[in-house]
Amino acid sequence: MPTETRRCAECDRLKAERREAMERGDVSRVTDCIVLMGRHLREAHS
Ligand SMILES: [Zn+2]
Repeated sequence: MPTETRRCAECDRLKAERREAMERGDVSRVTDCIVLMGRHLREAHS
């Protein structure tokens, strides 16, 4: 796990969406969320 970074509303939204996708077993959506989170962290928190 990466060290905790600053959070924002977008982080919370992506995390919630990923968790819900995992609960549904929607693997492709989970992957999307991980990609979006990585991009968001680079663009908004670096
Ligand atoms: Zn964020």
